[in-house]
Amino acid sequence: MGKSGVENSEPFPFFSEINMTAQILDGNALGQKLRAGFKQKADELAAQGVRPGLAVILVGEDPASQVYVRNKVNGCAQAGFYSEKHTYAPDVDPKIVFDKIAELNADPKIHGILVQLPLPKHFDAEAVLDAISSEKDVDGFRAENIGALVQGQRCFIPCTPYGAMKFFEEAGISLKGKDAVVVGRSNIVGKPMAMLLMHAGATVTICHSQTKDLKANCLRADVLVAAIGRPKFITGDMVKPGAVVIDVGINRLPDGKLCGDVDFESAKEVASAITPVPGGAGPMTITMLLANTLESAERVAAAKK
Ligand code: NDP
Repeated sequence: MGKSGVENSEPFPFFSEINMTAQILDGNALGQKLRAGFKQKADELAAQGVRPGLAVILVGEDPASQVYVRNKVNGCAQAGFYSEKHTYAPDVDPKIVFDKIAELNADPKIHGILVQLPLPKHFDAEAVLDAISSEKDVDGFRAENIGALVQGQRCFIPCTPYGAMKFFEEAGISLKGKDAVVVGRSNIVGKPMAMLLMHAGATVTICHSQTKDLKANCLRADVLVAAIGRPKFITGDMVKPGAVVIDVGINRLPDGKLCGDVDFESAKEVASAITPVPGGAGPMTITMLLANTLESAERVAAAKK
């Protein structure tokens, strides 16, 4: 399991000071810094005959998914990784996808397999994720992987929460004894995020659609993570003065622009630090996907020695 919530006394280079109250946690800058290190490691592994390789499976024509997959494949190229993209029509027979996953599980060029979600309705998404070998589950979505995460054992940390933790780690923000509130309880973001914050020493509250007084809960948060899927849902009056706000949401507005689950304009006036959308949690998610793929390749190289 990667280091999370590690204290670091170095000054934080990813805050860009602009004329506003909160400092901006720049996911592009932090991602670029980490990815530069990945390239060097990938080249070292390639010299040992193990170039990190990622296979991405995309079913259907969802425009957002197509953008995410393109960014992941481009991220691989920049980091010196091998990658493959397998695309299927929305009405593809699931057996064809299961067969491809089985083939990729056995392919030594591939160290990570990612199935872009959401899948069409005729797929059993859980069964598809379970078909990925646990050694190649670089998204960290398999139940087995989440179980290891809960127990603090070695695992692939789900990429979006992993990226969020990197902001704290790089900023030298200690989470010990902090009150953290995660809004959203999905298996891929909210739950693993809460677990990582707890492992790092925070006292964690998870809020969701049935939470009685969301605002009161949010106002207690030294660290507030929004993973809801509702544009600008968390407003400045829900943010505790000086809180660190991580906005995981990616929503497309009617004018085509992207926005997060946090109302950035009002929240930045209250928070001490905040991630923007775009340019915050999104690029860090892809960065940590690359980190997990690299880790998988490192395990293979170590086993060869
Ligand atoms: P889900 O739809 O799976 O989960 C949303 C969560 O928000 C649910 O737990 C839901 O509660 C909760 N919620 C919904 N409405 C409310 C409300 N009114 N008050 C409180 N809680 C509420 O979404 P994901 O976790 O998959 O994604 C969340 C967001 O993050 C989305 O915008 C998504 O696009 C984005 N995302 C971004 C990524 C990135 O790379 N930056 C990666 C993955 C996701 P309940 O469980 O009760 O229904």
